This record gives sequence, C-alpha cells and structure tokens, in this order.
Amino acid sequence: MKLSNNFSLEEFEHSYVAIARGINNKAPEEVINNLKKLCENALEPLRQYLNKPIKILSGYRCEELNNAVNGVKNSQHLLGCAADITVENIPHPELFEIIKNHFEFDQLILEYVKPNNSFSGWVHVSWNENKNRNKYFKLG
Ligand SMILES: [Zn+2]
Repeated sequence: MKLSNNFSLEEFEHSYVAIARGINNKAPEEVINNLKKLCENALEPLRQYLNKPIKILSGYRCEELNNAVNGVKNSQHLLGCAADITVENIPHPELFEIIKNHFEFDQLILEYVKPNNSFSGWVHVSWNENKNRNKYFKLG
C-alpha cells in the first residue's frame, strides 16, 4: 500500500526484530493516517531536495515491538509520527543539518552517531500535524 509517491506502508511496518520475535507489527488506521502526513510533509520534500531514496530503518512500532527495541514509553514511533532514516552517501550529521536548516518537523534527533563514524546511528525525524515544535538535539 502506497502512503505517498515514494513511500509504502510496508517500509514503515518492516522490522527485523518483529520478524525474529514473531511480533505482528501491522499499523492500525489512525497510525496509517499519521504515516501519510509524515511522508507527505516531511519525507517527500526531503527526498525531492536530496533527489535520493530515503531508507526507513524504523517507522511504525506497535507497543510490543517498541518494548522489544527498548523504545521510550511515549515514542512517536507508536503513533506513526516518526521515522529513523538514513540516505546513502550522506553522513548522518550532514543529513541532520540539512533537515534542520531547510524543513519543518516536530522533533529531529541525531541518534547514536559514533565520533569516528559519521555513518553510524541514524536520524530520527517526526511530524506532529499542527503541533510541530521544531525541536532538535543529539542523543547518544
Ligand atoms: Zn526514532
């Protein structure tokens, strides 16, 4: 199922942890609506700007999956409002700066990037329709 021009629901439901543990990570309808907004308002404009595919490392997480990956209790991944992303050949600190300087978002987090490897970790970006805080920080 397509969420927007370049993103499918399957990319956001996919999780190796869910597969390994037999967790059913199917998104309910209200989550799908949030994922569509995330794609249309945050990810598609970024994809257009970069002209490169965006890889979704973690999108939607049901509660069981969120617990399994030690996600925070009120994670925006539970609502389909957030995605952990990476883009080929763009160091994560650079991707973080591009989003910070050019786009609207709710939270933007540069997560778990090791000082000696700018391709480690990922960039977390969220969209909270009509309530975007434009908060950004580094974690880990
Ligand atoms: Zn995240």
